[in-house]
Amino acid sequence: MKIKPNENLSAYTTFKIGGPAKYFCVAKNSDDIREALLFAKQEKLPVLVLGGGSNMLVSDRGFAGLAVKIDLRGWQAQERGDSVFLTAAAGENWDNLVELAVKKAWWGIENLSHIPGKVGAIAVQNVGAYGQEASQVIDKVEVLEKQSGKIFKFRNRDCGFAYRASIFNTTQRGKFIILSITFKLSRLPRPNLWYRDLSSRFSGKHPSLADIRRAVIEIRNKKFPFPTGPKNGNAGSFFKNIIIDQKQFQRLGAKISESMGNDALDFLNHKAILMHKHFKIPAAPVLEICGLKGLNNKQAKINQAQPLVMLNFSGKAKAADVLGLAAKVLKTVKEKTGVILDLEPELVGFSPAELKKYGIID
Ligand SMILES: Cc1cc2nc3c(=O)[nH]c(=O)nc-3n(C[C@H](O)[C@H](O)[C@H](O)COP(=O)(O)OP(=O)(O)OC[C@H]3O[C@@H](n4cnc5c(N)ncnc54)[C@H](O)[C@@H]3O)c2cc1C
Repeated sequence: MKIKPNENLSAYTTFKIGGPAKYFCVAKNSDDIREALLFAKQEKLPVLVLGGGSNMLVSDRGFAGLAVKIDLRGWQAQERGDSVFLTAAAGENWDNLVELAVKKAWWGIENLSHIPGKVGAIAVQNVGAYGQEASQVIDKVEVLEKQSGKIFKFRNRDCGFAYRASIFNTTQRGKFIILSITFKLSRLPRPNLWYRDLSSRFSGKHPSLADIRRAVIEIRNKKFPFPTGPKNGNAGSFFKNIIIDQKQFQRLGAKISESMGNDALDFLNHKAILMHKHFKIPAAPVLEICGLKGLNNKQAKINQAQPLVMLNFSGKAKAADVLGLAAKVLKTVKEKTGVILDLEPELVGFSPAELKKYGIID
């Protein structure tokens, strides 16, 4: 495996932003990963694990360590009764896997269509969309422990899955490299249509897997650009939705009605989703009532149709433009609603002083 010096990371992220990694390599199997880890240990360098780079913003200075792009490939499936256990290597393209499952008539990941990135990262932030979370179908996650080089498997219940979270981006952050994921899918139809955009479209109908996948792709394409070309790079939602309890929900309501009036409050109440004892407030309408749609900072802009998405609209944005824009959003939302939004993408190569300057950390 080649370990190259000074490789520009902008080409490896969907934002199309980021300076060079001090060293860079592409790992095709677990031996490559072990070799990369040994190199990093000898050179005393931090390691950045890269999938499709669709959930990260890399600093303009780049990453002062070894970036390891995970390119492990292959999949296999085992049918057991009404279930099928689909195991895919971490470097497989996620949406190709969804397409495969749809073609094979395996239910369970169709709502997660048209999400960029690789299979491995799906477990990292427990990817979710259209009423579905990856954790609902993940059976096992095979990992390589960085410290020991040993390979073992986590069962679903050991992964600590929650909204946009798992042990891999919280308590055990940076300790494991995911090699493959096994998904438990259903051979019997299990349409998951409770999400508003889907329920309204398919009310009273019995859509096929292909119908659902087509609908999800169509709906997503109307909301924000899929980052394929040099322009409009993005990392999907830049801010997480807001999960709060009853008391916090009441406080939020009072603050919004005080600062923006009752129409804003009604609008938000209509969007809030009650989940067990908590409320999920989609962050997009919060940005909308705060007047942030379409706001820009140099070459970075908030997407008009889905304001959680920040765009490198010209293809020439710096990471500083994006973080500057994020800082404006955080400040405005905090002033008008009292809410401190969490960022969704991983920020790579920024110093604590920079993050403090942009109001990302205290
Ligand atoms: C247009 C667009 C739409 C999106 N829509 C959604 C959406 O609907 N829902 C959603 O949840 N996300 C969404 N995302 C975010 C993103 O696509 C997902 O989080 C995706 O799973 C990231 O995959 P990746 O391979 O690009 O990860 P990367 O960006 O490469 O990495 C993300 C994090 O995972 C770590 N990582 C990656 N691979 C491994 C591995 N094998 N082992 C250990 N750690 C690893 C990285 O170190 C990093 O911390 C969207 C992004 C875009 C650009």
